[in-house]
Amino acid sequence: MPLDYWRNIEGAYPYQTAKTIEDDSEHNPLNLLSLEKELIAIRRHLHQYPELSKEEFETTDFIAKCLGEKGIPIRPTSLKTGVFADIAGESEGPAIALRADIDALPIEEKTGLPYASKKKGIMHACGHDFHTAALLGAAFLLKENQDSLKGKVRLLFQPAEESGAGAAKVIADGQLDGIEAVIGLHNKPDIPVGAVGLKTGPLMAAVDRFKVAIQGKGAHAALPHNGFDPIVGASQLIVALQTIVSRNVNPLKSAIVTVAKIEGGSTWNVIPDTAVIEGTVRTFDSEVREQVKQRFLSVAEQISSAFSLKANVKWISGPPPLCNDTAITEIAKAAAHKAQLQVISPDPSTAGEDFAYYLEHIPGSFAFFGTGGDHDWHHPAFTIDETAIIKASYFLYESARRLLG
Ligand SMILES: [Zn+2]
Ligand SMILES: [Zn+2]
Repeated sequence: MPLDYWRNIEGAYPYQTAKTIEDDSEHNPLNLLSLEKELIAIRRHLHQYPELSKEEFETTDFIAKCLGEKGIPIRPTSLKTGVFADIAGESEGPAIALRADIDALPIEEKTGLPYASKKKGIMHACGHDFHTAALLGAAFLLKENQDSLKGKVRLLFQPAEESGAGAAKVIADGQLDGIEAVIGLHNKPDIPVGAVGLKTGPLMAAVDRFKVAIQGKGAHAALPHNGFDPIVGASQLIVALQTIVSRNVNPLKSAIVTVAKIEGGSTWNVIPDTAVIEGTVRTFDSEVREQVKQRFLSVAEQISSAFSLKANVKWISGPPPLCNDTAITEIAKAAAHKAQLQVISPDPSTAGEDFAYYLEHIPGSFAFFGTGGDHDWHHPAFTIDETAIIKASYFLYESARRLLG
């Protein structure tokens, strides 16, 4: 990296645990201050060259190069993007995984940062550059202490989180085989640097998507009795769908049904043949998820039928609810304390995360990592506080060590 990368960070915020960690005779001395500089440069490089889901080719090469320079070999994979690697200790023990996502978004960056995206219309607006740099830092720390590891740590640099398709492909590729637990994290702008949100149970929502085409019969707008009006049917359906949350779901549980798009007709004096609505359902519980889906299908069919219309429902299931394991979350909390992080109990997020697919196979925990900032995920001015990177690396490293036992 050119030296001017350091201009803005020289002398900035020495990580306060550096001395403590060096004093810890159990580990090799960890020079966190020099590692922090290295990781900030890595993150800035990733930030300048973001790539969309399934197109993370340069990112893949860059991660592989960073690992290769530290002598960490890459695992074979059938995936075109994404990097997987193992760091095994000398003694036998369990195999666990640490995961970061690596893709960016089709958003034009408006941060004004000197190291803003050099790719037009593409931006790391969800902070996956932060996750990637943090996991590389954890990998470097694990590598430095490889001899003392009791078991194996698999690194999952996962592609295509934003499209929701990456985790399932990583699992199908066999990268989770033999792995007993997994830890991951997501940056969180509303949590300050120095704090981490860790919580047992549901943390992020299941993401389902629907598209309903309501088929009617077009007519002259002045002769409605000659047709079956899909605009009126769609309007009734949108209102009726709101009763799923208010009248069917247990008030002590939660769900969202949002119709975000409505389309129908081409002019003011013609009743069209069809109208289409699209939207999303979010839930935190598999039973509620199924209940909302069944009720949705029933309401769509019956409301349409009441108006002599036909509803064609396309239901697209996304990631399941992300549910953190109790025992592993406790281990992550202990690791956070060791990393001198304040542990808070975060509010669940109604956004989705394909890390949830891993948790369908093996237990694990997903953390909301404090990075500060004025803008939420996917905003063109989204930023993270880079002083959080080394903390996240150390948290992941310490979590892995503790999971190995
Ligand atoms: Zn995102
Ligand atoms: Zn994200």
